[in-house]
Amino acid sequence: MNITVVGGGLAAASAVEELREQGYDGDVTLFGAEAYPPYHRPPLSKAVLLGEKEPESAIAHDAGWYEERNVELRLGEEVTELDLAAARLTTPTGTHGFDRLLVATGAAPRRLDAADHSGAPVAYLRTLDDSRALRAALVDGGRVVIVGAGWIGLEVAAAAATAGGTVTVVETASLPLLRVVGARVAEIFADLHRSHGVDFRFDAQVEDVTATADRGVRLTLGDGSVIEGDLLVVGVGVEPRTGLAERAGLALDNGVLTDATLRTSDPRVWAAGDVANHQHPVLGRRIRVEHWDTAIEQGKVAARNLLDAGEEYRRLPYFFTDQYDLGMEYVGSVGPEGFDEVVLRGDPGGTFAAFWLGGGRILAGMHVNDWDAIDPIRALVGESVDPGKLGDPGIALAELAGTK
Ligand code: FAD
Repeated sequence: MNITVVGGGLAAASAVEELREQGYDGDVTLFGAEAYPPYHRPPLSKAVLLGEKEPESAIAHDAGWYEERNVELRLGEEVTELDLAAARLTTPTGTHGFDRLLVATGAAPRRLDAADHSGAPVAYLRTLDDSRALRAALVDGGRVVIVGAGWIGLEVAAAAATAGGTVTVVETASLPLLRVVGARVAEIFADLHRSHGVDFRFDAQVEDVTATADRGVRLTLGDGSVIEGDLLVVGVGVEPRTGLAERAGLALDNGVLTDATLRTSDPRVWAAGDVANHQHPVLGRRIRVEHWDTAIEQGKVAARNLLDAGEEYRRLPYFFTDQYDLGMEYVGSVGPEGFDEVVLRGDPGGTFAAFWLGGGRILAGMHVNDWDAIDPIRALVGESVDPGKLGDPGIALAELAGTK
């Protein structure tokens, strides 16, 4: 049997590792469009961008690791067509037959057309090469304008401010991360960045982007105000890379649709990572998660299911970020209905935890700089806990979670 993986990210790497861990000794082929073996993207906006680590340190395993496991690693080879009826795919170098397939094509940054067409210096951050180039551009005294106050935008803002740059962040909403964390916690992130000199422009629309005579960039906002900088960084989210799956006829809706076992509409094809829109059996709804942990863990479950395990993917979404001295971990998911209440415990200016409650249950929880808290927080998600007790730092989270 030949198992083929399309996509060269962590979901792909984790899947091929698990196939061998499970004792499968048939053919495994991995096609990755990038020149590098699969790598971790989180450091690209953190330690690598801060110059604390070399870009190559993000590579999960070198080529020898794949060789040892007898995995055929086809780097720099984008799969251009997928013929499911013939169980064959096409790359620029030829065709390749498979018996079972994993689609792990990930996601790509959403573009800001006005910026792309401006001729001004514009950066996006997705790949190792993007990070290397951006790191070189973040210099002391540099004027960096960032569009988008999501996770990527904020992490770039932190790296640019730490490098000594003058940073302006433009955001359509009235606070950073508002949709994800709500106003109370969003204020904490806004204050953190302001304390490092970051200038936010909220409720702002980018009307126009032009190049300046001195090779800089000029943004005009909807209210007529103008911001000039040396570099524009666009961090306005990602889109799942579904072009190949769409042409192949797989069922799609905001990603490749899968059942609870990550199987797609074709019984020989599974999907994992940023591209997969998964029917989550615990959350009871569809969700496409753009997180590192999900890519790794879905890769493993998909691999077992490629070997007929029939296992549901039940793990809750988990996410982390590092900005300045703030380290945060978040677990759970607030659904489209939103949340009723946020409960904070601890010192919002230092070490604290936050919980999002809805329908009488904990939908999600996070901690800041309290690294032992993530296990009890995970155990609490889905539970019904008295908000008064939850917000009382005198009662240990482990006690509330029954993990102590
Ligand atoms: P990807 O990483 O997107 O990999 C897919 C790969 O497949 C790409 O290399 C692509 O070139 C290749 N590919 C696509 N189409 C084809 C094709 N047709 N043929 C061959 N190859 C193809 N998550 C967190 O939880 N915490 C963080 O702190 C965090 N920080 C991040 C920082 C940055 C800068 C970025 C970009 C992401 C961050 N993430 C973070 C998100 C996390 O990295 C992603 O969720 C994860 O990379 C998804 O892995 P993936 O394998 O599904 O897809």
